[in-house]
Amino acid sequence: MAFLQRALFPASRAVAARSQFRRSALPAIANPFVRLSSTMRPKLRDPSLFKENVCYVNGEWVAAGSGKTFEVHDPATGELIGTCPEFDAQDTEKAIKAAEVAFEEFRHRTGRERSKLLRKWYDLMVENAGDLATLITWENGKPTADAKGEVTYAANFLEWFSEEAPRIYGDTIPSSVPGNRVFTIKEPVGVCGLITPWNFPAAMITRKIGPALAVGCTVVCKAPGETPYTPLALAELAHRAGIPRGVVNVITALNNTAEVGQVLTTNPTVRKVSFTGSTPVGKLLMKQCAGTLKKLSLELGGNAPFIVFDDADIDLAVAGAIASKFRSSGQTCVCANRIFVQRGVYDEFAAKFADKVRAFRVGNGFQQGVTHGPLIHQRAVDKVEQHVRDAQQKGATVVLGGHKLPDLGPHFFQPTVLTGMTAEMAMAAEETFGPVAGLFPFDTEEEVVRLANATPVGLAGYFFSRDLHRVHRVAEHLEVGMVGVNTGLISDPAAPFGGVKESGFGREGSLYGVAEYQVTKMVTYGGMGRPLQR
Ligand code: NAD
Repeated sequence: MAFLQRALFPASRAVAARSQFRRSALPAIANPFVRLSSTMRPKLRDPSLFKENVCYVNGEWVAAGSGKTFEVHDPATGELIGTCPEFDAQDTEKAIKAAEVAFEEFRHRTGRERSKLLRKWYDLMVENAGDLATLITWENGKPTADAKGEVTYAANFLEWFSEEAPRIYGDTIPSSVPGNRVFTIKEPVGVCGLITPWNFPAAMITRKIGPALAVGCTVVCKAPGETPYTPLALAELAHRAGIPRGVVNVITALNNTAEVGQVLTTNPTVRKVSFTGSTPVGKLLMKQCAGTLKKLSLELGGNAPFIVFDDADIDLAVAGAIASKFRSSGQTCVCANRIFVQRGVYDEFAAKFADKVRAFRVGNGFQQGVTHGPLIHQRAVDKVEQHVRDAQQKGATVVLGGHKLPDLGPHFFQPTVLTGMTAEMAMAAEETFGPVAGLFPFDTEEEVVRLANATPVGLAGYFFSRDLHRVHRVAEHLEVGMVGVNTGLISDPAAPFGGVKESGFGREGSLYGVAEYQVTKMVTYGGMGRPLQR
């Protein structure tokens, strides 16, 4: 677990060590933010991992049929990184066809063969971890240490599912009909359409492709328009790993995203769609899938409660809240969104929490010492600002931050701590998806559980307590798919990840993640006779 925590949240661990650097290199507090020279372009050890203007279809690198491209910008500087193919419906149909043809062969490979392919892909990710992390920081903005953590996390899904591939078992079932024998075969569902978001450009893809390939499916993956280069580099590594043509197809679109999504959700060849992103888009895709009744996994937005009871270890709770709230500058679906603190420890928690946030260094993710990068785009910055202004107008106190940082670049926002939050504020009802922590006071366990559940979504929930009875009670009563008790980090390839209510359904990672890409076929043998008489 300690290893996973280091992999997932290395930046926070280094804050204390870096504060020394901050004090010597910059005037303390006066300018704790860092701007990187805008002329710097990151270098890759293996430049052939940077795939510009091509997508990966049927084992080949191809442009959009129309020749159209879209621009990808560095969220830290706003500068152009490069251009990518603007795939349309026809291009998408071709990718689906390639996956369909490949499925007929790939589904019959043994689990051991599929395992070796996934393992090889994992090894290549590890070998190229530095370059993959560079691409992630460049197009997503997260600091290099966090990007490296993501590469490890992402690769671990391929490793984990490579170990599942040879262990796809069915069942034998005692029949209720004399003479019958019943058993099940777990079959791959078929061609899968995968749609992934920008906040984890590598991990959201391997978390879906890993189990799909493990069970024998083939995929068409629509990479996010904001962060297409990491997925395309992963496709290049899949190619080098020897994954057969057509099994993995990675396509890109920005302006045509809805058109591509329409094809992936309506083409009858696609038997399964897995989407990670916002709840409104998830609902739209579900409607679109209804026409052909596709198997569906939706990992959507959350509004995670993070509860600190007055019997908690406060330092541990502060560390957990920092990790959960500010990871990827608050842009993960399991980030704490409402931090509820019991009144008896409210002031102590708020003071210690604000001290930790004060030590952050915001800036370009490539800059040494930076712990927190920019937000992904202008819409994200606007939403964060609107949530802060709304809370202020309704009586919250800004303890720290509260403003944009235009001097650093177009998408930077100060890490912000608000106290005196109430249920009337927008942050109580909506996911902020940014670096703003609002602390809500509460009095009783019943009250906080009611408040925590007063939202239509339910992805992750966290609480800190040393009372064993309370731990069980609250874990059972939170309406979420995942609970962190005395920890702010819950992601693990071995653990089922997913939500309830309007956070969607289906589980990723773990043996439950395997089942999402399978169908259960039942076979009954009749007339097998009665047991032999001795
Ligand atoms: P979004 O749902 O609009 O986009 C997520 C991804 O879905 C995009 O990368 C895009 O490629 C794809 N997409 C969007 N519309 C589509 C369509 N019609 N058909 C097919 N694909 C489509 O989210 P966003 O605007 O990038 O972020 C806004 C909110 O979404 C956030 O505030 C957060 O609540 C949520 N979000 C959640 C996650 C998560 O990990 N669950 C990730 C990103 C965003």
